[in-house]
Amino acid sequence: MAVIICERHGRQYCVFAAPRVAELIGASVPPDTKLLPVRLELMGEPGFFWCDEEFIRSFPAGTPPTDWSLESVHVRDEDLAFDIYLKLPPICIKCFEEYLGQNGLRRADIAFADAVKE
Ligand SMILES: [Zn+2]
Repeated sequence: MAVIICERHGRQYCVFAAPRVAELIGASVPPDTKLLPVRLELMGEPGFFWCDEEFIRSFPAGTPPTDWSLESVHVRDEDLAFDIYLKLPPICIKCFEEYLGQNGLRRADIAFADAVKE
């Protein structure tokens, strides 16, 4: 797990989110757009993060995520998953958890599991 130095919390583990989501968390601003839980696989390991629709739609034509729905996104293509992962900024886990709590959001892995259950 990677470590980050947070202005508010000092040395902390980090999590990842789409750039827009990281901006919202940094500014403590409630989501102004629909957020989707994303699952991707890197080297056989699943990872989950929150993203905005615009971020997912920004990926090049011809390499769309599969299982695209309005409630969740499952990226099965490993090359695309790696490209996406490289674009995710790290966020202090404490800031992230506070933001989830303040905005009634769950962890992305739990939200993803619920979205695909139906
Ligand atoms: Zn923090």
